[in-house]
Amino acid sequence: MTAPPVDVEAIAVREGMRIVRVDLGALEGRMREDDDGWLIEVNCDRSLTSQRFSVGHELGHRKMGHLGCGTDAKQEREANLFAAELLMPLALLKKAMAKHRSLGDLARLFQVSKEAMQIKLQEQGMLLQLTSFD
Ligand SMILES: [Zn+2]
Repeated sequence: MTAPPVDVEAIAVREGMRIVRVDLGALEGRMREDDDGWLIEVNCDRSLTSQRFSVGHELGHRKMGHLGCGTDAKQEREANLFAAELLMPLALLKKAMAKHRSLGDLARLFQVSKEAMQIKLQEQGMLLQLTSFD
């Protein structure tokens, strides 16, 4: 992988997951197994960036052997960290920050929400490198 945005759906498909967009009401996404194997359901009413994060989050549950989404706070945090690293790999992020120093530019580049980008930068201790939060 050399440049953002990360094709998170292709990665999930490669890992054997099917991706389906459905109306999930208040839920962002979930994963489950049916007769054809594992699938990730993503809420079709959400923004593209939110849907991308959900795919990464649900894939994280699957890769870490969790049995589902939304039942355990520790597992939710692990799935969020997984999604954040998948969508915003540190190596790519560092490279991007050599050129882009605004939160909005970085979020657009990686096709993630500004909130997700801000959390990632904060966790990596890179937030102070930003010159703008626009
Ligand atoms: Zn979850």
